[in-house]
Amino acid sequence: MSDNQQTFTQASGRTASDAGASFSSLALHSGYNPAEHHNSSSVPIYATAAYALRDEEHATQIASFELVDDIYTRISNPTTGILEKRLAALHGVEGAVATSSGLAALSDTILNIAAGGGRILTSYRLYGGTVAAFSNILPDYGIDIDIARNPDDPRSWEEAIRPDTKALLVESVSNPLNAVADLESLAKVAHRHGIVLIVDNTVATPYLLNPFDFGADIVAYSTTKAINGHGNAIGGIVLENGTFDYANNERYPQFSRKAWFFKTRDGRERSVLEIAPNTPFTTRLRAFLVTLLGSSPSPFNSYLTLIGLETLTARLDKELETAQAVARYLDGDPRVGRVYHPDANGYGYQDWARKYLKRSGSTIITFDLDTVEHKRATLDALKLFSLQANLGDSKSLAVDPFVVTHPELTLDELAAAGIHDGAIRLSIGLEEPADLIADLRQALDRVYGPVED
Ligand SMILES: *Cc1c(COP(=O)(O)O)cnc(C)c1O
Repeated sequence: MSDNQQTFTQASGRTASDAGASFSSLALHSGYNPAEHHNSSSVPIYATAAYALRDEEHATQIASFELVDDIYTRISNPTTGILEKRLAALHGVEGAVATSSGLAALSDTILNIAAGGGRILTSYRLYGGTVAAFSNILPDYGIDIDIARNPDDPRSWEEAIRPDTKALLVESVSNPLNAVADLESLAKVAHRHGIVLIVDNTVATPYLLNPFDFGADIVAYSTTKAINGHGNAIGGIVLENGTFDYANNERYPQFSRKAWFFKTRDGRERSVLEIAPNTPFTTRLRAFLVTLLGSSPSPFNSYLTLIGLETLTARLDKELETAQAVARYLDGDPRVGRVYHPDANGYGYQDWARKYLKRSGSTIITFDLDTVEHKRATLDALKLFSLQANLGDSKSLAVDPFVVTHPELTLDELAAAGIHDGAIRLSIGLEEPADLIADLRQALDRVYGPVED
């Protein structure tokens, strides 16, 4: 029985596999068969560093890639493996590797695609930590960044491609301004030049957008955010759909290069493409980056992420509705400047939000106030919104992108990203919409004085 067939097999032998399972059902069941785990309804936490190998033959089979099994938790772990299978199922793909954080997922992805050095083409609509990796670390290892001047225009990306460009990297829905990327056009540009498209889908979540439907080759997440949804574990994941042809592509010799690491039991060197023709990217990422640089997650965190993922759709259904009410309130309040949200007037990405998102909307709302002082005072006056660097939590959060989430961007980079110094980012949770609106109104009343009727 293959892993996929096992997906929905219950202890009783009942099976719901391949029954056109919906996103919600997959989020609860896929990748886990209780019958294989003492019928435990909740996914067990395999708190173990290593696994008792049955005998030398068992060890040899695993070490020579004849058998997929666990040896050591830095390489793989059953609890983490269920999280990987479940997120893979939610994207309809095979390849998935969980990491210790979202930033580990992104840095491992960049190191894996730009082995030997090269350039990553992106825009400043990027998480601050990702930009900081390019400002402080990656160039020392021969990996440089190029910026598409107008990220909304695919030609601007195409013009910036160079012979050693190794990837286009984009946030599908950007943090903090909710700009939606034109993924289909960017995939066409990338593929025309034999380059992969990497998508950070953290803000959109797999519930609202599956980037593989629009040509993405690699998708990365911070699971810390909405996938977990409870702010209790840092984590990340990298997925691939296995359609990109890395063989015969001179930009990516690392996938065809034979290595002792991938040898047969009689010592014949092989390439990662020989070992895993359908998942070369994530197989190499697990073998070299996660295993050898050590960015594997704790099984405890994988467990917490699995529990959070069970309620992703229910949380988002409510949060998106609440976010719409809050965005409309802010949009109508004369003390508030521009509101960056699909449900606000003047939002510039309506067409792409409709095209790419299964449901137009976002649980984050960023809005401008007129001065830095007013921004600071408003943040301090909030009572129900908690001041936190996180997003996607079931509690509503507020934060200063300039100071807390994107401080790594220089003032020029912040300007290029369109983030103003009076901006506040909200992440909408599960509180009652009226309570959240009342909290924002009392804070603005205190800072600006009440609005005259
Ligand atoms: C938070 C975040 C990251 C980094 O994830 P961590 O889990 O904090 O390491 C990357 N990309 C985006 C869009 C994020 O919001």
